[in-house]
Amino acid sequence: MLTDWYKAKKPRKIGKQGNLHNESSNVKKYDVIVVGAGPAGASAAYFMAKEGLDVLLLERGPFPGSKSCGGTSLIAEHTHKLFPNFWEECHCERIVIQQGYWFMTEDSLLSSSFQSMKLAAAPYNHFTVKRRSLYQWLVDKAKAVGAFVYFNHHVAEVIFDGTQAIGVEVSLPQKSRFFANVIILADGANSLVGERSGLIPRVSPENLALYVKETIALPAQVIEERFNLSPGYGSLIGLIGYPTAGFNGTGSIHTFKDSININVGLAISDFAISGIRPHELLDRVKMHPFIQTLLIGGKTIEYGGSVIPEGGYHAIPKLVHPGLLVIGDAASLVNGTHGINLAMWSGFFASRAVYESKKNRDFSVKKLSLYRTLLDESFVMQDLKANAKIASLQRELPYLFDLYTKIANDTAYHVAKVYSMPKKAKRKFIFKKITSIQPILKMASDIWKILKVVKG
Ligand SMILES: Cc1cc2nc3c(=O)[nH]c(=O)nc-3n(C[C@H](O)[C@H](O)[C@H](O)COP(=O)(O)OP(=O)(O)OC[C@H]3O[C@@H](n4cnc5c(N)ncnc54)[C@H](O)[C@@H]3O)c2cc1C
Repeated sequence: MLTDWYKAKKPRKIGKQGNLHNESSNVKKYDVIVVGAGPAGASAAYFMAKEGLDVLLLERGPFPGSKSCGGTSLIAEHTHKLFPNFWEECHCERIVIQQGYWFMTEDSLLSSSFQSMKLAAAPYNHFTVKRRSLYQWLVDKAKAVGAFVYFNHHVAEVIFDGTQAIGVEVSLPQKSRFFANVIILADGANSLVGERSGLIPRVSPENLALYVKETIALPAQVIEERFNLSPGYGSLIGLIGYPTAGFNGTGSIHTFKDSININVGLAISDFAISGIRPHELLDRVKMHPFIQTLLIGGKTIEYGGSVIPEGGYHAIPKLVHPGLLVIGDAASLVNGTHGINLAMWSGFFASRAVYESKKNRDFSVKKLSLYRTLLDESFVMQDLKANAKIASLQRELPYLFDLYTKIANDTAYHVAKVYSMPKKAKRKFIFKKITSIQPILKMASDIWKILKVVKG
């Protein structure tokens, strides 16, 4: 079923070049057109309009970031550097003071968790935020400094003069064309505008993960009791093992003011191999005995799915073209499942490059490459580079999360269980049990491979 979906997305063959100079000279020309009002596009629009550039932001949906749903966690440090004290203006749901991982098998859960009031002090560590209010806040900021924002405008493709991008064609609400010196593609994961325009190759199903998410409403006090939190504080939990049905995917639980978000996802290729349906994966998580109890009395208020590019550093496409830049998820700038900060920073760096290009009236690749230089010098590319080997390690050891989660849970079970044997015999017994699942030499070789990747 998912393979059919993937085939159905084959791009139309569209002639990407044509001489449109005459048409473009008769209509208003913006300095820059940004496609997509997610965190990447909205940030780029804000920083460019702030510098006095004439900016048009086109969003296909009725509200900013309408490609995805639910809530998310926001890294405070990176956001604070771009938008100082953002928490005073932007509605944040909870200050995260508790972070952990749950390593799960069908009936067990081994947790590693950290909780500290040190994380509760400004400038904070993580917040949980509702996407819609975060993205709306960014778009409102862009509007306040003069950016034009059109919702319900679906960009079909880029218009070129020779190889130079000079505008975009909008297919909905009606066919229309808009022109600018620079186009910024910020249309999110699996950029269809980039693909249709021949600028971004199709993302492979191995490098694109599909996540299903459900938001469940619960009274704030109940959430705080169930997660052992004081009022206003929140928790982020990564779910490893059982939730992803034997594949190297991940899940997570985020606590919001009066709701909980559960996400779980796998590479699209793994959905195709396993035949498992996305909603079945989410049901697995919700039915788990130790998650069920967290959700008692809850009411589903949102349900959805979205994709996330997980190819990492080596899957990043060409980001600078004549008159065009690619930012955010469209550029595959995602580290694990963290993408919002990378999206905002890529929007900021793109704004610097466009500003310099405008100043010099030069919209060539050479001038716009300042964007790539700034990205390369920043935490964005440095972190992606540092994590580049993780994706290949996961491919090399497809059993990594599942098998070692089982081994860890089995070990914990035998350690916790009281046996009528002396301690020395118990240790031998446990060792035998574990090495019957994975031979000791194989385990040592896997640990060595993991350590090599961690060391970088
Ligand atoms: C389940 C899940 C959980 C996540 N959790 C986190 C997290 O906890 N923390 C974190 O930092 N990141 C998280 N991410 C990643 C994060 O959501 C993305 O990295 C981030 O949203 C990327 O921003 P963007 O602006 O590049 O793209 P998007 O947010 O996808 O925005 C793209 C925008 O472009 C619009 N658009 C698309 N096509 C067109 C078109 N043809 N014409 C006009 N407009 C168009 C869309 O409607 C959308 O508004 C998560 C992602 C998923 C899927």
